[in-house]
Amino acid sequence: MRRYSAAAIVREAARHHEGWERAWASPEPKRKYDAIIVGGGGHGLATAYYLGRNFGLTNVAVLEKGWLGGGNTGRNTTIIRSNYLQDPSAAIYEKARALYETMSQDLNYNVMFSPRGVMMLAQTEHEVRGYRRTAHANALQGVDTEFVGPERVKELCPIINIEGPRYPVLGALWQARAGTARHDAVAWGYARACSAMGMDIIQKCEVTGVRSSNGQVMGVDTTRGPIDCDKLGIVVAGHSGALAEMAGFRLPIESVALQALVSEPIKPVMDVVVMANTVHGYMSQSDKGEMVIGGGADGYNNYTQRGSFHHIEETVRALIETFPIISRLKMLRHWGGIVDMTGDRSPIISKTPLGNCFINCGWGTGGFKAIPGSGWAMAELMARGGSPLASAFTLERFREGRFIDESVAAGVAH
Ligand SMILES: Cc1cc2nc3c(=O)[nH]c(=O)nc-3n(C[C@H](O)[C@H](O)[C@H](O)COP(=O)(O)OP(=O)(O)OC[C@H]3O[C@@H](n4cnc5c(N)ncnc54)[C@H](O)[C@@H]3O)c2cc1C
Repeated sequence: MRRYSAAAIVREAARHHEGWERAWASPEPKRKYDAIIVGGGGHGLATAYYLGRNFGLTNVAVLEKGWLGGGNTGRNTTIIRSNYLQDPSAAIYEKARALYETMSQDLNYNVMFSPRGVMMLAQTEHEVRGYRRTAHANALQGVDTEFVGPERVKELCPIINIEGPRYPVLGALWQARAGTARHDAVAWGYARACSAMGMDIIQKCEVTGVRSSNGQVMGVDTTRGPIDCDKLGIVVAGHSGALAEMAGFRLPIESVALQALVSEPIKPVMDVVVMANTVHGYMSQSDKGEMVIGGGADGYNNYTQRGSFHHIEETVRALIETFPIISRLKMLRHWGGIVDMTGDRSPIISKTPLGNCFINCGWGTGGFKAIPGSGWAMAELMARGGSPLASAFTLERFREGRFIDESVAAGVAH
């Protein structure tokens, strides 16, 4: 595969851009692979990439029932941060954030990582105490965050109304090297790098069954025929419960819709990401100028990937308190994705009751930021049978009561 570079742009411009190769090949599935990854979202593709890059395992297929990044990876609001409370979470999210810093160079694909800074507003005394505690925990974990006062909040984001009609802004948890990236570019960049290593990226290939013998996985049935494998990685976010059922075990996961919306594009008005958890909404500005807005997840289980009017009303009403200027904006479009929620709001990266079958799910409302770290850990788990980054996130924790409670860090704050 030819590298993207300034020289390549000049060369192709001279040939009227007719010489660009396809970013990844679309081969027919083989009969057998060393490893199959189900799910062509960011986490599945990152797992495949690190299997190849870190462990030299390239006889790998990624099977995707729709198109790459068509699940939550292409539907999220792209916030990347690592200011979590518990040590195992801070470790994996900070690993991911650090990998995002060099991802464009590593993949030779511009993922537009923008470390513009993320702040989580404290609008009650309770939140002030909570975020101060997180800042102290982050200092011990080596994650660079600080608690800042209202004047600094106003300086960083002048459009915030710090007086707020119901909740004044009392401060914020600020992470200066947090930010955003272009979500579908992350999926495309990983897919291109996987394809360059000789892996098969197979779209429109739905897994419909998992075959096993003597407690070991043997392969999968798909809409394009049966495919054998030595190892299976299930990385399908909101559809994890359905795949687990095919593999013969149950997951402590609920699938719910999470929605987002964008406004018409306007001139640059904010260059940080702001989450206002008390009023229940968050906002950033895209490179195109749209205000990217999100809120909480729906309160009922469902598999319907769509937006709803009650969500627009609730979220926009909440955010107008914090950003009065948005009351005059037109909203352009809204959408939903199915997120996989665990009870402690932490992910599962684990072996399963089926031998050589591994699962990576439960990233809920906040897994975009984790993609590189999660792929790194899942690849290590699949290749070596264990990973220090994943060791706390096993399925057993639900039976043993070793919860990793991140309900504050991962509620409306994505
Ligand atoms: C509206 C919204 C806003 C969000 N905002 C943020 C944010 O700001 N920051 C953040 O960090 N996270 C955010 N998230 C969460 C984040 O998007 C997800 O945690 C993350 O993208 C999950 O990635 P994934 O690769 O696990 O899943 P997905 O991208 O959903 O990929 C799973 C893939 O599996 C495929 N699949 C399912 N079943 C099968 C099958 N049987 N056979 C083959 N393929 C199958 C699906 O088609 C899908 O492409 C948000 C999510 C939503 C919905």
